[in-house]
Amino acid sequence: MQYYSLNKKAPNVDFAYAAVHGQAPDKGLYFPEFVPKLSQEFWDAFPTMSKEEIGFAVMKNFVGESIPNNELKRIVAETINFDFPLVKIDENISSLELFHGPTLAFKDVGARFMSRCLGYFNKGKKENTTVLVATSGDTGGAVANGFLGVEGVNVVILYPSGKVSPIQELQLTTCGQNITALEVNGSFDDCQAIVKQAFMDEDLNKHLTLTSANSINVARWLPQQLYYFFAVQKWFKKYNEAPIICVPSGNFGNICAGIMAQQAGLPVKHFVAACNANDEVPKYFATGNYSPQMAVATISNAMDVGDPSNFVRILEIFNADYNSITEIISSVSVDDETTKATIKEVESRTNYVLDPHGAVAYKALSDYINANGGNGFLLETAHPVKFPNVVEEVIGRQIPIPEDAKYLFEKKKESTVINADFDAVKKWLLSK
Ligand SMILES: *Cc1c(COP(=O)(O)O)cnc(C)c1O
Repeated sequence: MQYYSLNKKAPNVDFAYAAVHGQAPDKGLYFPEFVPKLSQEFWDAFPTMSKEEIGFAVMKNFVGESIPNNELKRIVAETINFDFPLVKIDENISSLELFHGPTLAFKDVGARFMSRCLGYFNKGKKENTTVLVATSGDTGGAVANGFLGVEGVNVVILYPSGKVSPIQELQLTTCGQNITALEVNGSFDDCQAIVKQAFMDEDLNKHLTLTSANSINVARWLPQQLYYFFAVQKWFKKYNEAPIICVPSGNFGNICAGIMAQQAGLPVKHFVAACNANDEVPKYFATGNYSPQMAVATISNAMDVGDPSNFVRILEIFNADYNSITEIISSVSVDDETTKATIKEVESRTNYVLDPHGAVAYKALSDYINANGGNGFLLETAHPVKFPNVVEEVIGRQIPIPEDAKYLFEKKKESTVINADFDAVKKWLLSK
C-alpha cells in the first residue's frame, strides 16, 4: 500500500514513511492510494472472529509490507487489550464505550498503535525521534501513556496551564521516563501554534527528528477503524438491520476512520457527525459551502476545532461530491445548554451518565432517529470522570473514580512551566 499527499506535490510513500513523518513535505495529509475492500472470506468469518483476528486483517491492508505479520499481530493485540462494550441506553440507542483503555478516552487506541509502530521503525536507529504534541486534554494523556518506555522516542507535550481537568493533568504529568510535560502559560490554541511553528522551523528540524501524534498521522488515524468493526459484530447479534452511528466530532479523524471501515464493506446505515458550537461542518452540510472558523470554547472542549484537519480526507473519499457525502453522513451542531440538559435528562431517565462529548452525540442521534426511524449507537469517547466540573454539577452528585485510575492520585505532578512563546520552547527543546 502506498500513500499520496492530498496536496499532490510530494512523492508517494509507504506506511512506514507516512507514520514516521506524519505530514507530507508539501504539508498535505497522507491518504491511501485506494480504499481496500475486505474479501468475501473475511465477511463469512466475521461473525465469530476474535478482536485480534479482525484487527490484523483490517490493518494488514493499510500497513502492507512495512511491518512483518508477526510484529503487526503483536502490535494489534497490545493496542486493543481492553474492552469495547456496547451498552444499551434506551429503546433505540446504545453507547459504544471507548473509555476502558488506560487514559479513559478513545484516543488510547490510536496512540497505542502509533507508539508501537514508531517503536518498531526506530529499532536499531541511532537518532531519537521527538514526538511533539499539543493537547486540550485527552490527546496528551493517551500519547504519554502509549509512548511511555518506547525506546528511541521522546515525547514532549504542551498543555494549557489550568485548562485541563485534574485527571487529565495527572495523566500528562506523572509518567516520567521519556515523557515531558510543558505547562504553557496560555491557551490550547497557543500550544497548537507553537507546535505548528516547530514543525516549520528549519533550524529545529536540522537538530531534531520531529513528528506529530495527532490524527493527521495515518498510524494514529487508521487503527480507529477497529472498534467500529468490533461494535458492528456485536450489533448483529441483536439486530438484523445495519446501525446508524453517531460520532462526536472535532478534528473528524474518528468519524473519518468509521467511513473508511464502511468503504471496506462494514454495514453501516448512516453516520451522524455531532458537533458542538463549532459548526463549520454542519454549515457545509446545510449549504455545500465550507468555510473554516475560529474555534470557540465549549464544555465538550476536545471538539473545539474551527477547521478540522481530517475534513479533507472525507472529501477525498467521496471525490468531494456533495450529494454522495450527504447521502451517507449528516452533521448537526448541539449547544452547551442542550448538552447539559441531555446529560441530566438521560441520567434521570436511565441512570446512564454521559460525558459532554457523548451527550452531544446522544442528542444528535436521538434527533436523527426521531426524524428518520431506525436504531443506532453513539461513540462514548471519554469517561465522564474526565469532565467532573460539568457532569457533577449537572447530575448533582460525584462520579466515582474508576479503580484503574486511582493510582494516578498517588503520583506527583512534574511539569516544566513555560511561557506561550515559540522561542522559549525552541530554546528548551535544543537544550535537551
Ligand atoms: C478528541 C476527542 C473527540 C474528537 O475526535 P476527532 O477525531 O478529533 O473528531 C471527541 N471526544 C473526545 C472525548 C475526544 O478526546
